[in-house]
Amino acid sequence: ISAESTMTASTHSTIALQVDLGERSYPITIGYGLLSNPELLTRHVAGKRAAIVTNDKVGPLYLAQVQKLLEDAGKQVTAIVLPDGEEEKTWNSLMKVFDVLLAEKCDRKTTMIALGGGVIGDLTGFAAASYMRGVPFVQIPTTLLSQVDSSVGGKTGINHPLGKNMIGAFYQPQAVIADTATLHTLPARELSAGLAEVIKHGAIIDAPFFDWIEANIDKLVAKDNAALAYSIQRSCEIKAEVVRQDEREGGLRAILNFGHTFGHAIESGLGYGEWLHGEAVGCGMVMAADLSQRLGFIDIATKDRLTALINAAGLPVVAPNLGTQRWLELMEVDKKNEGGQIKFILIKPLGQPLITSVPQDILLQTLAACTE
Ligand code: NAD
Ligand code: MG
Repeated sequence: ISAESTMTASTHSTIALQVDLGERSYPITIGYGLLSNPELLTRHVAGKRAAIVTNDKVGPLYLAQVQKLLEDAGKQVTAIVLPDGEEEKTWNSLMKVFDVLLAEKCDRKTTMIALGGGVIGDLTGFAAASYMRGVPFVQIPTTLLSQVDSSVGGKTGINHPLGKNMIGAFYQPQAVIADTATLHTLPARELSAGLAEVIKHGAIIDAPFFDWIEANIDKLVAKDNAALAYSIQRSCEIKAEVVRQDEREGGLRAILNFGHTFGHAIESGLGYGEWLHGEAVGCGMVMAADLSQRLGFIDIATKDRLTALINAAGLPVVAPNLGTQRWLELMEVDKKNEGGQIKFILIKPLGQPLITSVPQDILLQTLAACTE
């Protein structure tokens, strides 16, 4: 990872990162107003054609602007607008994308552009990985979650009725363009959900970054552009470094699931969509911190700091009472459960991850202490 920062005439600084993955390396550009820059996007569209995939919520806000940039540069643009929602991240939507690409005779040199949150990014990335065995792909993430998390790391895919993200591919984009201006139309609840993953990156990897988030949480919640840009930069750097070391999740990449074992149990226990993923992860991190503290890995003051920060980010800190038996069942089906024992990602100390199984009686204490 290498970073460089340049000031633009408009006093907003632009941050450029490079994700180092050998021949699959690519740049991430972060800043305010990047979708008004006529050169930045078109630089990454090598051929004459581009296909933009978006949804009916983001399209009305940003599609015309992005389409014009490309058309002004002489590109032929196909726009595909899908219905909004996680429930649309399906085989059916993927086929709709292929239907349009084929009907419009998009060739192998067509660059696919994902304009939207993680749902659009994951689906478009998978479409790009498989259309004509792979076409170039650019990500324009428009939610905080997609800017700090899903647009980095190359996981693409769709849901199956029997499981989330069960069909997919690893496929890296040519570039990621994260315009913080787009976050100003994002609902507060969605912004908070993205902050959960930002806090996670500090908690597991970088204690000074955790301190910085703590000092700047009010600015982040108020959508201060400079604070948002730095939180995105540092998150992308941390995630990209983990991915560089373990691109296909052989081991280390699992640490990015801090808070997720509890979080997934909340999401599926309540029924998907009841809590946002980031909300469940936020609460899940409080539970993982509680467990870390009970095992003597962090002190009570540290657990309280994490809880206060998650609360200040607008996220829930008390888990729903699903019943102990149901909690255990739900955590046992989690992907990270191998060889019969639930593996938890804990912190020891704040800023460093530890993957371990835990004694059942301590786990039960955490469940009792953290649920309503
Ligand atoms: P999302 O894509 O559903 O976006 C959330 C909501 O915000 C949607 O209604 C969307 O239309 C709307 N929206 C997007 N940008 C907006 C804007 N600028 N202004 C106003 N509204 C806007 O959800 P998400 O949280 O971005 O992403 C969640 C998805 O990402 C899940 O499907 C998850 O599986 C996936 N994900 C993937 C990875 C990965 O590594 N590939 C990592 C984390 C999450
Ligand atoms: Mg997550």
